[in-house]
Amino acid sequence: MPILPAAEAVFDVEIPVVVVGAGACGLTAALAAHEGGAEVLVLERDAAPTGSTSLSTGMIPAAGTKLQARLGIDDTPERFAADILAKAKQQTDPAMALAVARASGPAVDWLMERHDVVLTLVEGFLYPGHSRLRMHATPHRSGRELEAALLAAAGRSAIDIVTGATAEDLFADADGRVRAVRFARPDGSRETVGCGALVLACNGFGGNKEMLRRYIPEIADADYAGHVGNTGDAMRWGEVLGAALADMGGYQGHGAVAHPYGNTMTWGLISGGGFQVNVAGERFSNEASGYSEQAVEVVRQPGRVAWTIFDGAREAPVLGFTDYEEVKALGGIKRADTIEGLALALGLPEAALARTLAEVEARRASGVADGFGRVFAGTAPLAPPYCGVKVTGALYHTQGGLVVDPEARVLRPGGVPLPNLFAGGGAARGLSGPSRWGYLSGNGLLTATVLGRAAGTSAAHASRTPSKPPQL
Ligand SMILES: Cc1cc2nc3c(=O)[nH]c(=O)nc-3n(C[C@H](O)[C@H](O)[C@H](O)COP(=O)(O)OP(=O)(O)OC[C@H]3O[C@@H](n4cnc5c(N)ncnc54)[C@H](O)[C@@H]3O)c2cc1C
Repeated sequence: MPILPAAEAVFDVEIPVVVVGAGACGLTAALAAHEGGAEVLVLERDAAPTGSTSLSTGMIPAAGTKLQARLGIDDTPERFAADILAKAKQQTDPAMALAVARASGPAVDWLMERHDVVLTLVEGFLYPGHSRLRMHATPHRSGRELEAALLAAAGRSAIDIVTGATAEDLFADADGRVRAVRFARPDGSRETVGCGALVLACNGFGGNKEMLRRYIPEIADADYAGHVGNTGDAMRWGEVLGAALADMGGYQGHGAVAHPYGNTMTWGLISGGGFQVNVAGERFSNEASGYSEQAVEVVRQPGRVAWTIFDGAREAPVLGFTDYEEVKALGGIKRADTIEGLALALGLPEAALARTLAEVEARRASGVADGFGRVFAGTAPLAPPYCGVKVTGALYHTQGGLVVDPEARVLRPGGVPLPNLFAGGGAARGLSGPSRWGYLSGNGLLTATVLGRAAGTSAAHASRTPSKPPQL
């Protein structure tokens, strides 16, 4: 994965904008670059593009969308940015948070209106840390659906996507200007394409155990539920080109991955008033802190598993979520009319689970925080039918990466942009700060779509005026 001297590059074809990766970020970037008037080529290592985008629940948070306005939701980018900063304990760049929040509403409107991506607002519960309903998702709340919609949009724009093309080496000038990309084909052959600008949309390093051990040892041995082809290539190239990396310890974990099915059990089951227990039938943490930090808490429990306990009322808003319905169809969601019956169905000690529920209900009634700091007040008591699902904790994707500005230009440590390199999504530094606790639900697809769009627009511009990076 070296950076080679530009003079050594041999290529027959030069494309103004080359994008590495065909997930939400790469496809959004390609659509924006195409609209910006540039010819664009996407290189994707898989035979059929999926990425972590397809594995996700496809929720894109955005503030000030037309959809929100139609439903009377009084959200603003400033409020959204404040939520992002609060979750990250103010340890992310406030200017980036505000810029991304400001661009989020227009990006979602653009995807819906210009590219026919069908999104609806997720109602019925708030994700932890969001002060307004602002999750926009495909009808079945499925990343597969989102990826398919973006691929269809790229198809309508006649954007070329070369699959089975793993970008391996970049050719660059001494000043960091990327001139060409060499990629490997499945048969081992190699091809090189010249470029006017390069967009790195190849996500983070969740699929690279060595980088995980180096940057995030606490989660390196947990299951990785993201796309295995995301091996940190963007960071490795960027570092050699002189780019700044930041927040490499930040990540999105999830503390409720149905076991052994691997599906995301939406946190709405918890934020609506459910809770988690371990094999002893006992709670072990403040689940309301957020699903990302809960991954490590679950992995620390015996057998690295836990059970999410909820009820029919909490289930109602998530019926229709593809991930949930799949587990339900496979018998992974247990239900019973009594808490003892549920314990039996889940294989948990009956008396202990009944005691835990009684403690939770006492806290809920009193409004007093429990020993973990969780306040249950404001949510209704659990009532029959009681429900439960066995889960584990997993790493979803890494949030540290290349430092970019609001135009998705990759920056050097001093803040000077590289000449023609852009990044978004998991390849770029996210908005989640340096650790597990800073991830606000949806931060992943937020920066994939918003920075992807910015990267495509900027790359199209840079490919036309190579000596002057755009001031958008
Ligand atoms: C189970 C799960 C649920 C999630 N749910 C949500 C959610 O609801 N909302 C949310 O905001 N986020 C969610 N996320 C996170 C979200 O999926 C990611 O943040 C987002 O998909 C990142 O998009 P991306 O385009 O950067 O990366 P990806 O979608 O992973 O795309 C990267 C692409 O780059 C390709 N690639 C990598 N290296 C190379 C190379 N060298 N050459 C060529 N191609 C390469 C990969 O094959 C891949 O197709 C979830 C993640 C998981 C795992």
